[in-house]
Amino acid sequence: MKAVVLVGPGDVQVLDVPDPVISEPGDAIVEVTATAICGADLFPYHGHTPGFESGTVLGHEFVGVVREVGPDVRTFRPGQRVVNSSMIRDGSCPSCRAGRPTQCDGRALFGYSGVYPRLDGGQAELVRIPAADLSLGAIPDDVSDEAAVFVADILPTGYGAVVRGGVQAGDLVAVVGCGPVGLMAVLSAVHLGARVIAVDGIPERAGLAEALGAEAVSIDGARDAIDDASGGIGADVVVEAAGAPAALDAALRLARGRGMVSVVGAHFEPDFPLDNLHMFEHELTLRFTIGDPTNDRDGLLDLIANHGMDPSAIVTHRMPLADAAEAYRMFDAREATKIVMTT
Ligand SMILES: [Zn+2]
Repeated sequence: MKAVVLVGPGDVQVLDVPDPVISEPGDAIVEVTATAICGADLFPYHGHTPGFESGTVLGHEFVGVVREVGPDVRTFRPGQRVVNSSMIRDGSCPSCRAGRPTQCDGRALFGYSGVYPRLDGGQAELVRIPAADLSLGAIPDDVSDEAAVFVADILPTGYGAVVRGGVQAGDLVAVVGCGPVGLMAVLSAVHLGARVIAVDGIPERAGLAEALGAEAVSIDGARDAIDDASGGIGADVVVEAAGAPAALDAALRLARGRGMVSVVGAHFEPDFPLDNLHMFEHELTLRFTIGDPTNDRDGLLDLIANHGMDPSAIVTHRMPLADAAEAYRMFDAREATKIVMTT
């Protein structure tokens, strides 16, 4: 089969590799129809993922049709349309049994290795799905592949930051960083009835945030916009979706007293200089979210199918899988906000 392989840092190639096979009784094989590139794919692309194995098939956002299932798979049969969850889990560890699958002892991310055990991803014609009953979600007939692919990862991620941030109808919500995950936070907060100020200086992202119902400002204009909207007290909830120390610092200063800063950008700094004086004086709450497709996908698929939520509005580029190297180059250069590739 054809698969998108990270041969080495910066070197994405579409190669012929062996077809995946059922190796555990709970596995399924899925024929991929559409797959997206995620910002997280850029960490190994840049060689920033220690221990990443060259030759791993990339991709943790995909939809397709079940081709084959192992004898222990109960929920899925060949021919069904499915979406993956970005991260697999074992379903049996204490975290899984307590309903916290993102903290599973056996978690692994499709298309990753190093931090997690190697698990080939879905930027390919075929992909092996371990623990298919847990890892896959059935796609309703009236949800398109292009909308469903968001349920694999970034929609539950943005939505999780909003829900775990405690966003309520009527709240003032600032979203700092409007890459794809930030835009999913905008979409989710607007859907919950919040007033949303989207903070990003890249014109294409600002335009997409406005199309989703936010007011878009640059980082330099954020303080004034939030003061105007809040009578000077700050945002009820600030979602930080940029994954940069400066963005987190800005987010902490845009929240009102007793407000919430809900972080969904990926952070790897062990030495972030948290301003405890500011945190204490303003009684802020700071929480982090990875995103939980396993728990949230069915509710989100229902919002898409029946309640007018359309994450595919942020797709800026549609490309064949064969053009993956160019797609990665464009995504990395921010010439594209969200790319969906089809097989
Ligand atoms: Zn587990």
